[in-house]
Amino acid sequence: MATAPLPSREAPAVMEKLVSLAKRRGFFFQSSEIYGGLQGFWDFGPLGVTLRNNIKRAWWRTMVELRDDVVGIDAAIIMNPKTWVASGHVQNFTDPLVECKKCHQRFRADQVSGTRHADDGGEFTEARQFHLMFRTFVGPVEDSSAQVYLRPETAQGIFVNFANILSSTRMRPPFGIAQIGKAFRNEITPGNSIFRLREFEQMEMEYFVPPAEEMMWLDHWKDERLKWYLGLGIKPEKLRLRQHGKEELAHYARGAFDVEYEFPFGWSELEGVAARGDYDLVAHQQASGRDLSYFDDVHRERYVPHVVEPSAGVDRTMLTVMIDAYHEEEVRGEQRVVLRLHPSIAPIQVAILPLSRKEPLIAAAQRIEHELRPYFRTEYDDTQSIGKRYRRQDEIGTPYGVTIDFETETDRSVTIRSRDDMTQVRVPVAKLREALQERLH
Ligand code: ATP
Repeated sequence: MATAPLPSREAPAVMEKLVSLAKRRGFFFQSSEIYGGLQGFWDFGPLGVTLRNNIKRAWWRTMVELRDDVVGIDAAIIMNPKTWVASGHVQNFTDPLVECKKCHQRFRADQVSGTRHADDGGEFTEARQFHLMFRTFVGPVEDSSAQVYLRPETAQGIFVNFANILSSTRMRPPFGIAQIGKAFRNEITPGNSIFRLREFEQMEMEYFVPPAEEMMWLDHWKDERLKWYLGLGIKPEKLRLRQHGKEELAHYARGAFDVEYEFPFGWSELEGVAARGDYDLVAHQQASGRDLSYFDDVHRERYVPHVVEPSAGVDRTMLTVMIDAYHEEEVRGEQRVVLRLHPSIAPIQVAILPLSRKEPLIAAAQRIEHELRPYFRTEYDDTQSIGKRYRRQDEIGTPYGVTIDFETETDRSVTIRSRDDMTQVRVPVAKLREALQERLH
């Protein structure tokens, strides 16, 4: 379990500012907001969905495409419910819940201190175990034989396909299976905007190894995963690896690390990297009666592979890159808000801005945007004053703006403005693509 974040009302103002920016600019909104929303569910707007796609693409690129030892799958969200009995979730996937006897608010027992509610002094009830899996029914009859679960993690979709991947690919341990997909948990206290959700998205990889190599691979993956976040441009001093103490480890785990980020509400888990032994494959082997061992014909031995699992959240990564990039500064007596997003994930990489809404500027600007669009994520904008447009692009994290002005027609040049230091350079239109490529890649 991660270090417990403070309830959102205690989190400093930067969270509120970020949530307001996210709404104002179209990154994320409370789900079904016109009906008052639904706690723990969020919708993603045009910039949000692009940012998420960029994060997922970066993960897939690093974890699958750039490696020859990892393949991807996409398993169904609803699985045979026997899966969740075998994995231990039906028995154990619970959080301890306490309720304030005065105001009846409910909390996760491990996220409150003392025996009384700090707000109103109400005594907490004894903790009881609260089940986190959402239940629904398959088919027309709503009885217990038709009951299924919305998956609370994507990992089990990988374990149950282990034999399919062995027999349909040339993968042999050590190798990994990766998956990105939605997961659902009926969290007792969702909050801190998109940090803890009831519907969220995971990026998980199960890396299957010979038993003797498990700890070596845990060591490898914890470093690789930290590196991935650094590669997204997150400040190194805000990231750390935290090793789980013995008392914190699940009974089957051989070792685990959390990648943590220093959120405004404290250091919290961004990703878990765990050595899970042969727990999952043995459990599914016993419950399904299917052989999930592997025969190594070089060493002539049969074994059930051990697993190292890096398990990350799309939503937490999104929140992290946004918080980490959020920056306020004063420029010529005015406040400037800038999201210093890494160019590889910024929803828009180049904004094309005619200085005025007059011809021939508009036609020239549109032509330039059209030419750049296949190579960069671009946006054309000719509304409002140029100052306001720069401010908007700064706020949504666009690294470069290209301004087309009255000189462009005669000198065949445009101005590139940099988001971070606001410097401007004049570049010939013929060299524009190259100049942007140099800056962005
Ligand atoms: P916590 O202790 O915060 O409840 P956990 O240790 O149960 O988390 P894991 O089961 O290890 O979390 O999940 C792996 C990753 O999935 C987390 O590091 C996080 O990025 C993401 N994740 C888990 N639960 C949620 C959630 N409710 N909302 C958003 N992301 C989540």
